[in-house]
Amino acid sequence: MTWKITKSELDNENLLLNESLLSLGNGYLGVRGNFEEGYQDEFNSIRGTYINAYHDEIEIKYGEKLHAFPDIQQKLLNVIDSQGIQIYLDDERFSLFEGEVIHFERTLHMDSGFAERIVHWKSPTGKEVKLTFKRLVSFKTKELFAIDVEVEPISGVQQVKIISTVNGDVTNFVDPSDPRVAAGNAKRLHILNVSQNEKYSVIKNRTYETKLDVACVTSSTMHAENYGYDSQVTESHIEEIYEFEATGPVHFTKYNVYTDTLRHGENVIEKGLEIQRKLNETSFSTLLQEQQEYLDNYWRQSDVKIDGDEQLQEGIRFNLYQLLQSVGKDPVSNIAAKGLSGEGYEGHYFWDTEIYMFPVFLMTHPEIAKNLLVHRYSLLDSARKRAKEMGHKKGALFPWRTITGQESSAFFPAGTAQYHISADIAYSYIQYYLVTQDEDFLKEYMAEMLFETARLWNDTGHMQNGEFRIDSVTGPDEYTCVVNNNYYTNVMAKHNLSWAVKVFHLLKEKEQNKLNDLMARLSLSEGEVSEWLTAAENMYLPYDEELKINAQDDSFLQKDRWDLENTPEDKFPLLLNYHPLTLYRYQVIKQADTVLAHFLLEDEQDLETIKNSYDYYEELTTHDSSLSCSIYGIMASKLGYDEKAYNYFIETARLDLDNTQGNTKDGLHMANMGGTWLALVYGFAGLRVKETGLYFAPTLPEAWNSLSFNIRYQGRILNVHLERDAVTYTIVEGEELTISHHGQSIHLENGVEAKVETEYSS
Ligand code: BGC
Repeated sequence: MTWKITKSELDNENLLLNESLLSLGNGYLGVRGNFEEGYQDEFNSIRGTYINAYHDEIEIKYGEKLHAFPDIQQKLLNVIDSQGIQIYLDDERFSLFEGEVIHFERTLHMDSGFAERIVHWKSPTGKEVKLTFKRLVSFKTKELFAIDVEVEPISGVQQVKIISTVNGDVTNFVDPSDPRVAAGNAKRLHILNVSQNEKYSVIKNRTYETKLDVACVTSSTMHAENYGYDSQVTESHIEEIYEFEATGPVHFTKYNVYTDTLRHGENVIEKGLEIQRKLNETSFSTLLQEQQEYLDNYWRQSDVKIDGDEQLQEGIRFNLYQLLQSVGKDPVSNIAAKGLSGEGYEGHYFWDTEIYMFPVFLMTHPEIAKNLLVHRYSLLDSARKRAKEMGHKKGALFPWRTITGQESSAFFPAGTAQYHISADIAYSYIQYYLVTQDEDFLKEYMAEMLFETARLWNDTGHMQNGEFRIDSVTGPDEYTCVVNNNYYTNVMAKHNLSWAVKVFHLLKEKEQNKLNDLMARLSLSEGEVSEWLTAAENMYLPYDEELKINAQDDSFLQKDRWDLENTPEDKFPLLLNYHPLTLYRYQVIKQADTVLAHFLLEDEQDLETIKNSYDYYEELTTHDSSLSCSIYGIMASKLGYDEKAYNYFIETARLDLDNTQGNTKDGLHMANMGGTWLALVYGFAGLRVKETGLYFAPTLPEAWNSLSFNIRYQGRILNVHLERDAVTYTIVEGEELTISHHGQSIHLENGVEAKVETEYSS
């Protein structure tokens, strides 16, 4: 049953966790897996509905505010709650926390795009009912969240009453004890309108500061012969009450349409009504069918098959499903660190997108990947502005965390100082170009992005004794902050700079007019481009002669080593138990840093250095960030550490399903979900995408019989199938291609299976 996630717990902790795991979304709208009727009063729940990028702004209060510290923080908001459905059997209210639960299970159907809750319940006075709740967030009509409930009275019930609610009085979740969750400002929405319009229930809210509107326009249909109807409109919510005789099974469908200013302009209510009229209460089964079609298409391209371990198979499918549910597919949105499944990290976009999630879409659904890049491009003006504020003469500095482009990170050592995000974005543009050869994209977006980020590096670094050095930045490892010459940052900046030069010359050759326009618009001179080349060619990449590794930065190796062995279990993650300065004074690493650089740009070092670095840094790494294990796993595969690679994969594949980080209730760890796919495709299959083509170095874990996936490459679909003693490459769609398999060239032709015997030695 690797297509279904089934749960039946009723304790508070698991219910909270399952709210995240069973959340539904489509990239625009996300709804947590709450119970329609709620829990018990004392139950702690994060009842949530989110619209990607729909946010408010909150002033950041500093004790000591220095120059260019960001003034405001953006925050994804929990919007109007349309989940509410209460069911009464005569006068008794249905609740899974009273009476007798004869049967209860809930399932996320990842193959067909809906969640289901099946209940057989006996009330405290012995009335019996079977209930089936189905819900979906439509991939076809992105504004639609629909719920269908079937009520089947079994015994002792005379009358059934259904009260369906839409509630505008909503707040966000806060947890002052966890820096990864918001500490305050729970309420950020005014209620502007609560009314019934035609047959629709309408609520409109507005954010306090950004003045963005959201509307929920709801309609409902009672599929019963005879029923009574009433409704109640209060200042904050609308109740629709249906009553009918318990003669047989009936079902009730609720259609909630969400619109917001960012996508629908000023008249969000009108727009919502329009969408509702068009939907015209499409039957729930038709909606399910539409979901099925969409998902069939998604899985055809994206499914990864692991033969030999059902648990891991389930894990990877869950991750791929949640990635699809989270990724923004319109011009104003991206993928938040928690997707649309919770409020952790306040709906912000980080480098997680470019380095961990974008590659999955790039290699499976490049049109979705492109949207992510175009969205970043739309933030370029803010990034230019931010660079100026930060004292740079030129260039674009992307914010560490943001929704619409403003820096939202108040803690600069592990925030703004992570300049590498600008090179990460450039890296993703370059990868996109290598995979798609999209020349229009290069002209329209990529050239400008690369030029502006190259400018940032040129302005941030400086030449000294013939070397280009970058001081006072933070690399991916947030336990080592504000350092000189972080290897990761320098090598990524080098790549950024040299590709900016390359793209400049490509345009010069083929698109002189376009280049002239761009140069005029950016006031760019050829002299500046040659400075980029000098910086790239002379980039200083720290290397320690004695250890024969790349030093993480100039000072890292001179520090004392943190005694990880004798650090009690309950002190992890360290960030929740030690002041940052304590951590900065030691060699202790939160997440892959130099090792990640060796994955992304492996040709910058020889294999021996890469191996030595891995061995050295692994011992110091806590993996306190969920962005770490997948990368260590990928590099373990490369280095022939097969057992480690497998163990790291296990850590990543079910991280949320098994709640191994303990905070999945705040939302799913989306970067890790991307990382799992990377571990399969870049780790076990050893894929690298380079200017010279596709490189594979497959190693199949011993426990598996086979691993199979599709990737897209320059208009082709390529299937890769790893078995115990052979790897088969097949071009399913598109033209012939020559690839490298463990250094051996293999020519592939459309439809012809190329089977290569292999012993899996790397
Ligand atoms: C990690 C960052 C990451 C952020 C959001 C932090 O814990 O250290 O690298 O971008 O979480 O996922």
